[in-house]
Amino acid sequence: MTPVLFRRVPTPPEGSFHDRKYVGYDDYVASEGYEGLQAGIDAGHEEVVNIVKAAELRGRGGAGFPAGVKWGFLPPLDDGPRYLCINADESEPATFKDQVLIQFDPHSVIEGIALCMLACQLDTAYFYIRGEYHHQREVFERAIAEAYANGVLGENARTGKINGRWPNLYLHRGAGAYICGEETGLIESLEGKRGWPRIKPPFPAVQGAFARPTVINNVETLANVPFILKHGADAWKANGKGRPEGAPPQVPASYGTKLMGLSGAISRPGVYEHELGIKLTDLIETSGQGALAGEGNAIKGYFHGGISMGVISQEEAEAGVEMDFDIGKKWNNLGLGTACVTVIPERTSMVAMARNCARFYAHESCGQCTQCREGSRWLNKMLDRMVAGDGTTKDLDLLLELASSMGSMPGNNICGLSDGANWAIRTIVNKFWDEFEAIVSKPSRVSLAVV
Ligand code: SF4
Repeated sequence: MTPVLFRRVPTPPEGSFHDRKYVGYDDYVASEGYEGLQAGIDAGHEEVVNIVKAAELRGRGGAGFPAGVKWGFLPPLDDGPRYLCINADESEPATFKDQVLIQFDPHSVIEGIALCMLACQLDTAYFYIRGEYHHQREVFERAIAEAYANGVLGENARTGKINGRWPNLYLHRGAGAYICGEETGLIESLEGKRGWPRIKPPFPAVQGAFARPTVINNVETLANVPFILKHGADAWKANGKGRPEGAPPQVPASYGTKLMGLSGAISRPGVYEHELGIKLTDLIETSGQGALAGEGNAIKGYFHGGISMGVISQEEAEAGVEMDFDIGKKWNNLGLGTACVTVIPERTSMVAMARNCARFYAHESCGQCTQCREGSRWLNKMLDRMVAGDGTTKDLDLLLELASSMGSMPGNNICGLSDGANWAIRTIVNKFWDEFEAIVSKPSRVSLAVV
């Protein structure tokens, strides 16, 4: 494996990203930093898009949409400004992979931003950072100042004028709403409005921030772009998992490495870089050093990519779950998501876990869509009732029916939050049915202990 994001910083051999120090501009340059940007400048903006398309880089924020294809949706240039929004509003429960990039290797992100601005001819970028990331904000602001001082951004930037303007990057803090991580909710918030996701179309590429063409990319997605420009699409595709033999090129693959977080009942929590396609059990045993020691800590399941992708049981993991973008098709969940894994031990009640998830969605629903607003609250109430020992067998079917009705049938919901609630609750209930049956057939108060 060629580490893409972990290579720059000297680190103890056993260390996770948390052991690293902040990489300033000089250290970054000393370890091949900004060579990808120079390669992009030399190649020209259209070729940068072609190279990223050829690399089949898929978005690392959760959806896995190909970045180069997204960049290709922009309309032709006109006289007006064009924007890049960097989604650093990392709010999915147990997800903290972007945080370490921002905190420890911010110039890898800034180099990716500069390359994206060059490739897509975007003159202004907004770095939308989660409001709670105070320390990370300070580090990133320092890195932005270094980038301006060294000709990466601003007047006389090495890219030259983009779209007739010098490229600028501004940091914008979120205010704690999960829904502002949804790309159009983020744009609304950036514009100073309530973070309500927009009905699409129009898509942001055509009418995004301030009604102008806008690209929105995740932090990790952009941090991978410099490697691709410096080493080429083939070097990137040498890592990860290609498409199955004989599959046509239209079948999406899972090339490259990915930051994977580990938290919950695990011996060594942290953020680690692995090739896509690593077995979940290998990830747990190698980087995570296995389950926490102690009674009740044997692993019974995982949230493998944030709670919204649904749950995976230990039996499924042992049957060969691989961390790639096809995980959803094979193991009945929504997808890879953020690839930040929460390990769930035996001692955790899955009824209480489901209740906590439902409470989260009820709290974070923006309320525009009826089935999301009402459904998430109803789920929460039903699960509260079960946890209190007042559930009935009828509640189980109702729970599944209600969750399914919140799914994303075309036109049902404006954004994916409602579907996330559906997958979280439905997979927990289906895969840990015995625990739910036990609580409704022998009502007794459930221990509120979760991971
Ligand atoms: Fe808001 Fe939920 Fe509708 Fe998304 S699905 S727009 S969070 S009400």
